[in-house]
Amino acid sequence: MTTATRPATRAAGRTAPQRSELPALARRALAQRSDAPAGDACWTALASAARELLAERWAATQRADTRRGRTRRVHYLSMEFLMGRALGNALQALDLQDAAQAALPEGAPPLGEVLEHEPDAALGNGGLGRLAACFLDSFATLGLPSFGYGLRYRHGMFAQAIQDGRQIERPDTWLEAGSPWELPRPELRYTVGFGGHVRFEGGQHRWEPAETVAAQAIDFIVPGHGTERVSTLRQWQAEAAQPIDLTAFSRGDHAQAGQQRLAAERLNWVLYPDDSTPAGRELRLRQEFLLVSASLQDLLARHLREGGDIHQVGRANVVHLNDTHPALAPLELMRLLLDEHGLDWDAAWQATHQATSYTNHTLMPEALETWPLDLVERLLPRHLAIAYEINHRFLDEVRARFPGDEARVARMSLFDEGQSHHGGERRLRMAALAVVASHKVNGVSALHSQLMVDTLFADYAQLWPERFLNVTNGVTPRRWLVQANPGLAGLLDKHIGAEWRQDLSALGALRAKAGGKRIGAEFLRVKRAAKARLAAHIREELGLVVREDALFDVQVKRIHEYKRQLLNLLQVIARYQAIVADPGADWVPRVVVFAGKAASAYRAAKGVIALIHDVARVVNTDPRVGDRLKLVFLPNYSVSLAELIIPAADLSEQISTAGTEASGTGNMKFALNGALTVGTWDGADIEMAEAMGVDEMFVFGLRADEAARIKALGYDPRLYIEGSRVLQQVIDAIAHGSFAHGDPQRHRELLQPLLQHDPYLLMADFDSYLQAQARVDALWRDPAAWAASALRNIAGMGGFSSDRTIGDYLREVWAPPAR
Ligand SMILES: *Cc1c(COP(=O)(O)O)cnc(C)c1O
Repeated sequence: MTTATRPATRAAGRTAPQRSELPALARRALAQRSDAPAGDACWTALASAARELLAERWAATQRADTRRGRTRRVHYLSMEFLMGRALGNALQALDLQDAAQAALPEGAPPLGEVLEHEPDAALGNGGLGRLAACFLDSFATLGLPSFGYGLRYRHGMFAQAIQDGRQIERPDTWLEAGSPWELPRPELRYTVGFGGHVRFEGGQHRWEPAETVAAQAIDFIVPGHGTERVSTLRQWQAEAAQPIDLTAFSRGDHAQAGQQRLAAERLNWVLYPDDSTPAGRELRLRQEFLLVSASLQDLLARHLREGGDIHQVGRANVVHLNDTHPALAPLELMRLLLDEHGLDWDAAWQATHQATSYTNHTLMPEALETWPLDLVERLLPRHLAIAYEINHRFLDEVRARFPGDEARVARMSLFDEGQSHHGGERRLRMAALAVVASHKVNGVSALHSQLMVDTLFADYAQLWPERFLNVTNGVTPRRWLVQANPGLAGLLDKHIGAEWRQDLSALGALRAKAGGKRIGAEFLRVKRAAKARLAAHIREELGLVVREDALFDVQVKRIHEYKRQLLNLLQVIARYQAIVADPGADWVPRVVVFAGKAASAYRAAKGVIALIHDVARVVNTDPRVGDRLKLVFLPNYSVSLAELIIPAADLSEQISTAGTEASGTGNMKFALNGALTVGTWDGADIEMAEAMGVDEMFVFGLRADEAARIKALGYDPRLYIEGSRVLQQVIDAIAHGSFAHGDPQRHRELLQPLLQHDPYLLMADFDSYLQAQARVDALWRDPAAWAASALRNIAGMGGFSSDRTIGDYLREVWAPPAR
């Protein structure tokens, strides 16, 4: 594609293209091609036309924001943005779907098919990255002066293939043909350093890096809906400061001559494909610093260019940290203010503290990011010195408040002195740094935020109770309802009017109508059509025919032990055994759908994928079972696959061990699309249940406090197995190799930990889960009652828009500091 290199704004004198010009723009692009209008040519034509229209709006948005007055600008720093496809969203934002369809020439595929030619921009792993993408949509739609800041990974989240029932990872190549949504910004280029040493001269510290790269801005445009605003995801690309080392080249040392370029390119090479354990590698730390340094230099340059006073930089700007991955930001901002702009410590710290806020996404100790001090010292010597100084001042404050409590001081320090883990190595704790530097720290659901101040950050919360708060996550209804499920969106318009499209809380009006006969029947028809589309995909992808009138029971998300896909699978095996024992009983036919990626080094997660495939082979070919039960694993879970699967779900599986899922956002997408939820009392499920009515959700299992207590008392999973004949049979079948051609070894590695420690309490929750599933079956037998409950679920989802989330951030986290 050539569009990516075209200048963003048109030459002076030409007028901006109008919306009505899209068909002409698209036809012009198509006419330049000599081949037949195949899907990809149509896609390219429509995308370049949409790009032209959006680039104009984007430029107008930028101009408007420089005149924003005293409104703070939000800078949302995230190592991940899981954007998915953009053209369908762009056409919706421009309100040009019909025009786009009309612009397609005779013989071209329908618009829906054309849109599928776009590769997903998968610059994220899962929930955290998708949250950031939903926020960008809300930033644009709400008209918030803002920038998303990220890295332009050449290879995003790996593509998952399945071979012989095992996950194979293939590199993602989303950029191979360029991206029409990018606007290169050659004038926005900053120098980012690594290594070297610090000089102290004339009362000033100056960092002299050993290596430098140029950080080049490439803007990814994000259209708003119901507005002409187009937001910016500014992505950094590292380039060699010098493209070629000519001295080395003249010497004939060609490898050396290209060295710098390779070193720079490596920084944007690939997204670290793990959603739950920190990468811990030098390249990752370099990536994090690239993001932070380039973004803050850009912020400061803009602040000064717009006439801002450097002392006011924290008052006029928000620097938000999406998890600790960008938590070097306060150190880099301090360095820039102290060393480059000559502020004294107190002024620099005040500005940094005013600007910085942080969202925590996990309480699991193994997921907390720390870096060895020798690595930090080698790459970022000045930043380490600043961290020492921050810590020194901070610990003085702790000692003044809690005199004599040195144990507390050690727990709260930014530095882990290495007594306990990591082989005695001293490390920098990124979460502690983020908490100390931020004026606000939030969790992402009510339960998570409570546990955050009770456990992980208890010491800090005692020192600064007012610093901590909750901001429950949300999802954008544009992508996850209007775009993914136009049938349901139309139904809502018809029965409650279109106001929900601007203000999702208007969905509440559905509650009073949910029991209606006609609306129930219409809902079931819409659902059935979505299921037919998914069934066709399953047939194409796997060659498997499923009943479209079966209950579609869906668990799609990253594969992780705490999310307990294995618990779901045990339930499927129990159901299979029960069907085989009594095929004549009145079974509710179910299609159980899994999708999700396992981190490549995560053996237990890969074991789950393998077991799902082994069980599926047996279940799906057993003539005694027939179409009463089908088990499906759809490869390569992604945003675009989620858009196909979620509208088709009858039942949403949200079954994490209570206290482990910070919020979840998949849960929200499902409920918004009229799936009922079988779930634990965890994350945002709790708030969803409370909003829709607790009886509208199939809740089961131990609560978070009970789970903690049972573990403290010495949990023994074997007691639960001995106490449940059903569970015993399920475990025996796996242990005896019933799904592995009789090979008892094949799933041993997966099974043994369950029998011994079972850290995620699958055995303890199994019976309760089975009972919840029986309640699901019972309700399913009454389609009108099922539809009414699904509609009440939707009615309760008004509070789970990312617009509401961003409104909360604006009021409670990003509000200007008091004078
Ligand atoms: C929403 C979403 C997620 C997060 O799902 P959870 O169930 O909250 O873990 C992950 N991946 C994709 C592609 C998503 O769209």
